[in-house]
Amino acid sequence: MNIMLFGAPGSGKGTQAKPIMEKYNIPQISTGDILRSAIAEKSPLGLEAKKVMDLGQLVSDDIIIGIIKERLKQDDCKKGFILDGFPRTIPQAEALEVIMKELGIKLDKVISLNVPDSAILERITGRRVCPNDGTSYHITFNQPKVEGKCDICGTELILRKDDNAETVVSRLEAYHKQTAPLFDFYKEKNILVEIDGMAGLEEVKNQIVRVLE
Ligand code: AMP
Repeated sequence: MNIMLFGAPGSGKGTQAKPIMEKYNIPQISTGDILRSAIAEKSPLGLEAKKVMDLGQLVSDDIIIGIIKERLKQDDCKKGFILDGFPRTIPQAEALEVIMKELGIKLDKVISLNVPDSAILERITGRRVCPNDGTSYHITFNQPKVEGKCDICGTELILRKDDNAETVVSRLEAYHKQTAPLFDFYKEKNILVEIDGMAGLEEVKNQIVRVLE
């Protein structure tokens, strides 16, 4: 089962990827998480990506496509995978088709989490993430069991550097200009399914499971 979660920043892609990953035992492939690990390691890729990410802009297609090409070849992707935050541009989507064709696989479903812009700011500025395993929480809508600590590993939660009101404006702009055209791209391929991303966490999860079953 090869799935892509599609939606604006803060629409719940990362949060919803976790239960799907556990239920179907397939990896979540988040290009944002891969880039953040590269930044933490201070690798050349990380140093280059950081400047762009801090501005809320998109990292170049070439870099991202290179990352995905290597990642999809790994053994754990043989049973399937959940793409989270990739593709984000039409050239990335086209490159994904080429990569998948080479691997003899196809994208089964694109799940669009529909959330209006008016809800995004509160979702993103209230988000807290675990720097260790990437689990996302929200100070109001999805609180950890112990305040400020990850439920899974106990690590202190952080506010992502790009999760601030100023950067959200640029991220939403990048989303509308560069990423939103993918909605029609996948709709035309008849693999896009829309889900109300404003429903509660459990309800969104159940809707996704129904689509996948
Ligand atoms: P995310 O964790 O998905 O919100 O991504 C955080 C940031 O990483 C984005 O704002 C971009 O700067 C960068 N990024 C992640 N995935 C991509 C992608 N597929 N294409 C370009 N930039 C990306």
